[in-house]
Amino acid sequence: MKVSFKISNLKKHPNYASPSQQSKKNRNNDNDLLFEVPQWVDIGNNKTSFVWKHFGLKTDGRAYCRYIVNQDEETECGWNCIYNSQTSSMIHHLGSAHKIYEEKLVKTNKNR
Ligand SMILES: [Zn+2]
Repeated sequence: MKVSFKISNLKKHPNYASPSQQSKKNRNNDNDLLFEVPQWVDIGNNKTSFVWKHFGLKTDGRAYCRYIVNQDEETECGWNCIYNSQTSSMIHHLGSAHKIYEEKLVKTNKNR
């Protein structure tokens, strides 16, 4: 509490900045707050399809391809589609864009 008191003292003179600039800045900040940036959703363990190794789900209900297309800059593909519990379009994207295909899951008891 003592710390926040000090900070509020520092902000004692907000009007020192040009008034027009100040209001402009505040307006931009308000827009940022109104615009909801989609967040990554925790997919959980119930989505076992291989596509989720490369896709992430965001709060806007879209699935985003996180495949790294540029290893140096670690640029994600960013391709996305509305996720409606179907993974077919995501599978198609992985195959056509990244040459990633579902591994044939022949019961791999050999792994253990
Ligand atoms: Zn992709």
